[in-house]
Amino acid sequence: MAYEKEREIAIATTTLAAQLTEHIRYQSTTSTLEKPDDSPVTIADFGAQALICQGLSAIFPDDPIIGEEDATLLQESPDALTKVTENVQRFLPQASDDQVIDWINRGNGQISQRYWTLDPIDGTKGFIRGDQYAVALALIEEGRVKVGVLVCPALPFDPQNPQENQGVIFVAVENQGTEMIDLDHNKSCFIHVNRVKEWHELLRIESLETRHSDRQQTQVFDHLLGITKPPEKMDSLAKYGVVARGEADIYLRIPLPHFITWKENIWDHAAGIILVEEAGGKVTDLNGKPLDFSCGIKMVNNYGIVASNGWSHRKLLETLHTVNRER
Ligand code: AMP
Ligand code: MG
Repeated sequence: MAYEKEREIAIATTTLAAQLTEHIRYQSTTSTLEKPDDSPVTIADFGAQALICQGLSAIFPDDPIIGEEDATLLQESPDALTKVTENVQRFLPQASDDQVIDWINRGNGQISQRYWTLDPIDGTKGFIRGDQYAVALALIEEGRVKVGVLVCPALPFDPQNPQENQGVIFVAVENQGTEMIDLDHNKSCFIHVNRVKEWHELLRIESLETRHSDRQQTQVFDHLLGITKPPEKMDSLAKYGVVARGEADIYLRIPLPHFITWKENIWDHAAGIILVEEAGGKVTDLNGKPLDFSCGIKMVNNYGIVASNGWSHRKLLETLHTVNRER
């Protein structure tokens, strides 16, 4: 099967990284640093990036990795670096501070014909709060996603039994469908988007952060389409997994007027997009353009995101066009 090795290594490295992030999440003190853009980053973000970059580079030494984090902040904070190294040593006992810095900085690769993109913890605020977060890794070739793996340790495997079996690994490979695997790798099944075709039965999901999508516009949008259920709110790329397995139907990201120049980061979407598409759904930007991962860490050729269960996509785009025109 195509991409068999890539799929295997992506699952193995992200599963290990999620064990590290969960271990830190269950400790009462999560060390948090502040990035230059004021967003938080924790020792778990750095530890997860170190483990994944180490594992990927060992098997695919020529593949660039574009990860969200770099080690500059850690190098200025010796206490935090010690904690990251101690956590990495639980998996790689010989790891030194210098190696940890080197592995994290392997995530500073350049976009090329083939590369990996990594968000070691997407939804860091959700992680700190004890809500949803995701470890996200994707392989891109010629600007298109070929393999996507998303580990959501706080998402129930079976939404009907939310207390049982916490943790899901979503995996998709181009033309091979989307699977859901439990964290112990004991259970797996193929998943599909919801096929219900009544607008009033559809559920929209959106970011918990009010600054990340324009809620005024989405309210008008719901009204025009006859969507009556209140939207579910969730941090991180986990929203894509939830759409892929048919628990929600529509995920919109409409830049707010004062963030109109905001461009999405490749690592915030790549792994999620292939999950939805391989599960029978569709993902484009708000203008209906395919998402372009060939131009840099920012998706400068796209504007906003719309992910759907597929059949609703054309009507969603038409309605978005109307909402925009009426503003
Ligand atoms: P979510 O949990 O879906 O809100 O996504 C979290 C991601 O939103 C973070 O990883 C940021 O990269 C990204 N983000 C930060 N600021 C903005 C913004 N103004 N608009 C859209 N996304 C943003
Ligand atoms: Mg992120």
